[in-house]
Amino acid sequence: MPSTFHRSNGVCRSSVGGWRKSFRSFGLSGEAVRPWHLAGWWVHMVLVMAFIAIIPYTKLLHFVVAPFYIAITPEHRSGRLKPVSLEEVEETGRVGLAEVTDFTQRQLLSYDACTHCRRCEAACPAFATGKPLSPMRVILDIAEHGEHQGSLHGDIISAETLWSCTTCGACVHNCPVLIDQMGTIIDMRRHLVGEGQVVGSTQSALRTIASRGNPWGLPPEERADWARGLGVPTVDENPTPDVLLWVGCAGSYDRRNQQVTRALSKVLKAAGVNYSILGKKERCTGDPARRIGDEFTFLEQATANVETLSKVPFKRIVTQCAHCFNTLKNEYPDFGGNYQVTHHTEYLQELIASGKLPAAAAANVPTNSATSGTTSETKPAVGPVVFHDPCYLSRHNDGAEPVREVLKSKASGGLPIVEPERSGCNTFCCGAGGGRMWMEEQIDQRVNVARWEQLKATGAKTVAVGCPFCMTMLDDASKADADSGIEVKDIAELVAAALPDK
Ligand code: SF4
Ligand code: SF4
Repeated sequence: MPSTFHRSNGVCRSSVGGWRKSFRSFGLSGEAVRPWHLAGWWVHMVLVMAFIAIIPYTKLLHFVVAPFYIAITPEHRSGRLKPVSLEEVEETGRVGLAEVTDFTQRQLLSYDACTHCRRCEAACPAFATGKPLSPMRVILDIAEHGEHQGSLHGDIISAETLWSCTTCGACVHNCPVLIDQMGTIIDMRRHLVGEGQVVGSTQSALRTIASRGNPWGLPPEERADWARGLGVPTVDENPTPDVLLWVGCAGSYDRRNQQVTRALSKVLKAAGVNYSILGKKERCTGDPARRIGDEFTFLEQATANVETLSKVPFKRIVTQCAHCFNTLKNEYPDFGGNYQVTHHTEYLQELIASGKLPAAAAANVPTNSATSGTTSETKPAVGPVVFHDPCYLSRHNDGAEPVREVLKSKASGGLPIVEPERSGCNTFCCGAGGGRMWMEEQIDQRVNVARWEQLKATGAKTVAVGCPFCMTMLDDASKADADSGIEVKDIAELVAAALPDK
């Protein structure tokens, strides 16, 4: 009973006293007050109950859902996508998310937890550069569509919105209530790919990943051409390496990135590392296909690579590609491939810390003479260096520290480092992830140009990178801004260029 409650509660008693005073001012006192007091109590109770009842239909729903969702959500690595269930695809004949009924209860619950804080939107490189994508809007559009039948694609969420995502993960990492906006977008892309709605040259990239094992469609026999004349052993020539150097498609075929692979090989040799490459046996990890939404092409690549790797008794994989690193490390275990995988920035730091790399010939005068392996062009890159953190290293895998140790070390000449406005796990994407490397970018500002401006604003003379996708995007931006005089170098090139001559 309300009276009992009030009598036992010191805090509320004073308020009851307050009401009694009010009633007295109307000329009511003693027992006459009691029915009025009870009536007031019930009115309050009804109002409170009504308020609670309408919460699910208001923007306040997240007050209830968010704490509950956070409590039941286990820690999840944003670099690992959940595999598609082939049984489910066989059963339903559909892949990906098209209608609200395709989403799991957990996904729908997570969207109700959205607090409308816009942190995901503020961090999103697509939104910042004028693309038709707000990760918050995607989530709210799905949540608001909850009661309706029919496809979400088209009028509700356009294909252009879904293709604008670079899968950088900034939205996921900034969301206070652990919503997986990026995973939702990729799940919806899977539906578009299943329906054959793939944009631009993405279609040919997917086709040639499947047929030739690389998105450029170049012959597998040419995969190790970058190593010609360098004496880099394949696994057939050195079948028991300590390190299997996973070169990746860009490091194998793209001219600028071939220079990076040659520089890394030079460093491995200088450090006396026992290493091999797979050569023409290596194929695309499938990362671009998976992030575009083509799970089946990814599966084919992953299965073939796991089979190849099972025949080589290496101790660990080292790779200069942040995307290959992420996929081999976080996603191949789902397909039977369990390896120790190290990104080259971390491996270089290990080599330096263990004294296997000598101090630089001179302080802070990196050249690119070592990067081609055959040319002797020498351009000192003086001045401070800014490192552009790759999303797939520094955000998805929390790997921002080793590279800074490498830059500061004597082995690279003790390069002075400056930090851009967004760095480390808060980095800003180069614009190439999620298959965007093979898509036209015509709306508003290019993401790589926006990032270039942020890096340039630091006053650095060298932009250091640690991923071939970032290299391509920022090298393009530097060419469009040739007057800046800023060079783009991979961290392996900086270390290789600083090696003393023997
Ligand atoms: S993953 Fe990156 S690009 Fe995609 S929605 Fe999130 S923040 Fe935007
Ligand atoms: S960061 Fe999360 S909670 Fe905030 S608007 Fe985006 S999805 Fe909603």
